[in-house]
Amino acid sequence: AEKGKIGIIGSGLIGQSWAMLFASARYNVTIYDINLELVNTACEKIKTELKTMEKNGILRGNYTAEQQIELIKGVTKLEEVVEGTILIQECIPEVLSLKQQLYDQIDKIVGSQTIISSSTSTFLPSALSEKMEHRNQLIVSHPVNPPYFVPLVEIVPSEWTEDWVIKKTREIMEDIKQSPVTLSKEVPGFALNRIQYAILNECWHLVNDGVLNVKDVDTVMSEGLGMRYAFLGPLETAHLNAEGFVNYTERYSNSMYGVCQQFKPSPKFEGPLVKEIGDQLSTNTPLEDLPKRRLWRDQSLIKLSQLKKYN
Ligand code: NAD
Repeated sequence: AEKGKIGIIGSGLIGQSWAMLFASARYNVTIYDINLELVNTACEKIKTELKTMEKNGILRGNYTAEQQIELIKGVTKLEEVVEGTILIQECIPEVLSLKQQLYDQIDKIVGSQTIISSSTSTFLPSALSEKMEHRNQLIVSHPVNPPYFVPLVEIVPSEWTEDWVIKKTREIMEDIKQSPVTLSKEVPGFALNRIQYAILNECWHLVNDGVLNVKDVDTVMSEGLGMRYAFLGPLETAHLNAEGFVNYTERYSNSMYGVCQQFKPSPKFEGPLVKEIGDQLSTNTPLEDLPKRRLWRDQSLIKLSQLKKYN
């Protein structure tokens, strides 16, 4: 009502999370899915989840679960989720041709004031929008799973995304209390995956060179670096680890450079080591226990997000 309408396209895991986030800040949310039955399932799931979270004291926003539920509505036509919408958040599967087909349909019915925002993890906004008439309204807003408890959103414009789209998208993400960063230009992997892949590459090499086993590599992050990184980025970590960042470089840049000279080129994640790492991981978490372990992860993230609020 007061804040206007947000349209969610694709009612899976990510679509449901976005719907709850937008409703928590009093946006009117419509959800559409190509599979109409899934829209109802999604709305039911959201209802249950919001109520459970309210009971557990972890509901976001200043409104009751019931008030938030009232703002979320399933629709059966693409038009209903596009028309009069401030922002469309696209959450369909990560298949380029599927997304382009959907954008082609949206292109024919969307007005000039609607932001078309994609949840894509891997496609550049230019690749999604190059053929569109409304291509200057498309932007990527990449969430991190589970978005309800991990607030980062990477906002990625293409070179033809208009300034008002970039600015408004960021305002909306801040309004729903996510933590957006805006890339000045599109780069493959955006920022999060570029950093994540650099870490994964070095973990691969440490195991491949027999320096550490799989469990111990993960312990270096979860019991070491990760403890800080939940609160501080690597740059501020350096700032605090000396008398400021400049002093850090004076002290450590030579030895750091020396270590990095030994870094190996990016490995391809293939060959016998893939099975070896998989086997070692499955010793601790067999594949049939993945759902249980994910639940534990999400519950830990909830506790962490509570803790960060008082920081
Ligand atoms: P999902 O498979 O859970 O849900 C996708 C939904 O889209 C399904 O309900 C499907 O029926 C529907 N759909 C398919 N084609 C459609 C169409 N043409 N119109 C409307 N609905 C359609 O997928 P997900 O995990 O929610 O991922 C969605 C997007 O979010 C992907 O682009 C993914 O890369 C991105 N993303 C996912 C994660 C994650 O961890 N799952 C994290 C960040 C970003």
